[in-house]
Amino acid sequence: MPLIAVLPGDGIGPEVTTQARRVLEALNLDLQFEEAPVGGAGYLASGVPLPPETLALAKRADGVLFGAVGDPRFEALERRLRPEAALLALRRELGLFVNLRPATLFPGLEDASPLKPEVVDGLDIVIVRELIGDVYFGEKGRRTTQEGLRQGYDWMSYDEAEVERIAIVGFEMAKRRKRKLCSVDKANVLETSQLWRDVVNEVAVRYPEVALTHMYVDNAAMQLVRRPADFDVIVTGNLFGDILSDQASMCAGSIGMLPSASLADWSGANGMYEPIHGSAPDIAGQGKANPCAAILSAAMLLRHSLGEEACALRIEAAVAKALEAGARTPDLGGSLTTSEMGDAVLSALT
Ligand code: NAD
Repeated sequence: MPLIAVLPGDGIGPEVTTQARRVLEALNLDLQFEEAPVGGAGYLASGVPLPPETLALAKRADGVLFGAVGDPRFEALERRLRPEAALLALRRELGLFVNLRPATLFPGLEDASPLKPEVVDGLDIVIVRELIGDVYFGEKGRRTTQEGLRQGYDWMSYDEAEVERIAIVGFEMAKRRKRKLCSVDKANVLETSQLWRDVVNEVAVRYPEVALTHMYVDNAAMQLVRRPADFDVIVTGNLFGDILSDQASMCAGSIGMLPSASLADWSGANGMYEPIHGSAPDIAGQGKANPCAAILSAAMLLRHSLGEEACALRIEAAVAKALEAGARTPDLGGSLTTSEMGDAVLSALT
């Protein structure tokens, strides 16, 4: 029986994962669920954001359903004890170098986007973000300059093997879709990006059927609001992907709509699935969180880690049907609570 590790985390994490789990349970798939604390909740339970039992569970599970981490109460702790450290450690420990972030505009949500309906019409992008390299994982620290000034530094780097493996995922994804891949970098300024571009071009030779373009990240940010529907698959590094996918979320109506999958390879073993949003302390505990991103993350778990494509499609169709029927949480301009939105998806499922 497949084991799903449920790591709800902090803030709205538990609220949205509860709804995602309800939807998974409604499919009667004979799944086994085991829950463990992570982030601020992990720190409260065992003094570290990623308790060893939580990591062991994640490694043992067939798939991990993750909520969100981050709690203002722990912001002053040293970095390794802060809730967010759990996420980086999980990604590193599970070798999750691929982050798939689909951004789709569900019919009926055209008005929820701050962009004009005709601009976001037809939006269907996948951002393939590298997840365990770049400036987030390089050496970082504080030092004092010769002039006696405090200085912070973070080391940005990619080696060719890291770029090659994520580029392959980008091309494979593009091959399965419209055969258009846009690689985003900042090669005009950053040497790391120049290597990225060189390696992506080398991998492109193996994929003659895919049309590859390159775009600087500043231009990509602009084009994502100018003509987002022109993009199909975007492949980019950790830092740029983090920022661009939040931006893409607004094209799709709300950050509460975007799921993600983090994978160690195409087989999806040990995959981790989470909404792209954070713990949203400003609305935590108020029943205002949109659970759709978490529910759609559960669909990605079924697709990538359990090979249950039909069930994944059922969930995605149920979310679309609920939205078409007018179900909306406050971020989408409605008044449903988190659990009422879960109810709406569940009734569309059955
Ligand atoms: P956030 O994504 O938590 O919130 C940004 C804004 O979007 C807030 O106004 C919030 O209310 C809203 N929002 C987010 N999710 C929503 C949902 N499902 N429904 C409705 N509205 C939603 O980002 P932030 O405010 O920058 O960060 C808050 C905390 O989350 C920080 O501690 C940060 O480090 C952490 N964080 C964690 C993750 C993660 O766990 N993967 C990702 C990003 C940020």
